[in-house]
Amino acid sequence: MPCSRILINTEQLQKIVSNLARKICSDYRGADNCLALVMLEGAKYFAQDLLAKLDLPIEVETIKASSYSGTSSAGTVKIEGKDALKEKIRGQNILLIDDIYDTGLTLSRTLEWINACGPNSVRTCVLLEKDIEHTVRIDIDFTGTKIEDVFAVGYGLDFEGQYRELPYIGELSAEIIEQHSSRPTEDYGDTVASG
Ligand code: IMP
Ligand code: MG
Repeated sequence: MPCSRILINTEQLQKIVSNLARKICSDYRGADNCLALVMLEGAKYFAQDLLAKLDLPIEVETIKASSYSGTSSAGTVKIEGKDALKEKIRGQNILLIDDIYDTGLTLSRTLEWINACGPNSVRTCVLLEKDIEHTVRIDIDFTGTKIEDVFAVGYGLDFEGQYRELPYIGELSAEIIEQHSSRPTEDYGDTVASG
């Protein structure tokens, strides 16, 4: 197992997602248009389960914003494929779905960009919030649960592109992080942001 311990097991994850879905449904009830923007790659697994539980007419698009390299935030955020999305966002009720609120840099930059597109409303939903002093404070509308300040993997969360497929969320073992950081750079190639 790549994790030193399980933080949230599969059953707990499903309960968290169901609770979020219930809250989102009651909040959006009656809204005549809604566009879910799923942050790639990390939120893909979570969003799939969440959207399946939403009893709402909702359109879905993906958005790719990257800021992470290894186990610490690189501090720069790049949004891909913006132009095609701009028109879709204007006048819409946006539900931005991400995996985790960590430093808040990615979410805040993405929210800035979304707001500049002229949506009717914007709400945010994250599965996890790290229990830390966030670099950027964001009022998240729907939060699944808080986790400790550890590097988590599974259910979409990755370490250098790996472990997303784990059916639980666990704390990545220190050995794996160490093995990785002691490897020469050319061995693992492109470490730039996998979201
Ligand atoms: P930010 O630091 O809040 O901007 O987080 C940016 C992105 O980094 C998140 O959407 C995740 O994809 C990734 N990230 C942050 N913390 C973790 C973690 O503990 N494990 C895996 N990915 C993480
Ligand atoms: Mg992400």
